[in-house]
Amino acid sequence: MDYDHVREVDPAVADALSGEVTRQQETLAMIASENHVSRAVLEAQGSALTNKYAEGYPGSRYYAGCEYADEVERLAIDRAKDLWGAEHVNVQPHSGTQANMGVYLAMLDPGDKILSLELNHGGHLSHGHPANFTGKLYEVEQYHVDAETGYIDYDSLEEQAREFEPDIIVSGYSAYPRAVEWERIQDVADDVGAYHLADIAHITGLVAAGVHPSPVGVADFVTGSTHKTIRAGRGGIIMTDEEHAKAIDSAVFPGAQGGPLMHNIAGKAVGFHEAMQPEFEEYAERVVDNAKTLAETFEENGLGVVSGGTDTHLVLVDLRESHPDLTGGEAEEALESVGVVLNANTVPGETRSAFNPSGIRAGTPALTTRGFDEEATAEVGDLISRVVDDHDDDAVLEDVSASVQDLCETFPLYE
Ligand SMILES: *Cc1c(COP(=O)(O)O)cnc(C)c1O
Repeated sequence: MDYDHVREVDPAVADALSGEVTRQQETLAMIASENHVSRAVLEAQGSALTNKYAEGYPGSRYYAGCEYADEVERLAIDRAKDLWGAEHVNVQPHSGTQANMGVYLAMLDPGDKILSLELNHGGHLSHGHPANFTGKLYEVEQYHVDAETGYIDYDSLEEQAREFEPDIIVSGYSAYPRAVEWERIQDVADDVGAYHLADIAHITGLVAAGVHPSPVGVADFVTGSTHKTIRAGRGGIIMTDEEHAKAIDSAVFPGAQGGPLMHNIAGKAVGFHEAMQPEFEEYAERVVDNAKTLAETFEENGLGVVSGGTDTHLVLVDLRESHPDLTGGEAEEALESVGVVLNANTVPGETRSAFNPSGIRAGTPALTTRGFDEEATAEVGDLISRVVDDHDDDAVLEDVSASVQDLCETFPLYE
């Protein structure tokens, strides 16, 4: 990928852009929220639509000259409706966090109550963390996963909901490896008179492909990021029913945002089109199969896997039993030095800090995009385990690094 025009104007940025492409080619992206979009999505996101102001919605804009913006946004909306089966879709949120903001702004008043999963247990900042606007504007209480099983503790969620009487219950997570029982949470929300927001940021692609149960048509609101498992470029999306359509649209614009990022909406349209092809279902199935393989490989190598496995695209490793002296941060650093890029993560019952927690989180969406099958994924699982076992043995690190480079060459990217 050359950046000739950038290079002519700005060699420093061109170097960084080229460097980033090489970095992605020569490392294994295993941060569970990351993926590699197609060249088609990259091109759409880099298009001249970045120049266009299109405040409003297709057919009713506040600016002239929106015929192509309308066309692109309509395509994105129609394709999203098709993919997820939603009655109403808003494709304008700039990110998953902005999508959540749209829902809160539409349905809550400051001081209203949010019940959500604790961040340490797999929740997200935008679900009520004190450092986030949600923690500042709303009253927040948090539910948990069962420390023994690693599964959502639905019974205590129900108990907490009865006591706390939230205005909205948030489900959908950042570091939860198991399938979510949307109906069960919806029943609780109905019982206590709360809305239910299902935030499928991580699993948009798995839900679209039918390899994870869908909350669409179950939860009142479904939000997502469009750059994770769905591979449609950076952005957010909100899905709801006709009843809440107007409130959501007004909350996104003019409530929380100004002009939509039309170039990103073009990326969404292209990525959604790709996801409607039969190959995408195979992709999503393979993402989950690869994650299961990764979890099995870790367990065979003596690493503790939270909840004993995965139903999704990610595996959460708890290092405390197998490697009590190794923190997640140290593991992350050693792995980065050999070209495996993943992140340290808190684990249920965390005994260290969020900055240097006891676990690592590994996802398979990006590797699977590069073509990794179960055999290659098992090899990656073995390599990660070796680094975790011998993170300060230079000979091991060198050896693993060479194997990582071989894998990167076997499964090329953007060539
Ligand atoms: C990634 C994520 C988001 C949104 O993140 P953005 O970076 O704002 O797109 C929201 N909720 C959950 C659960 C996530 O994992």
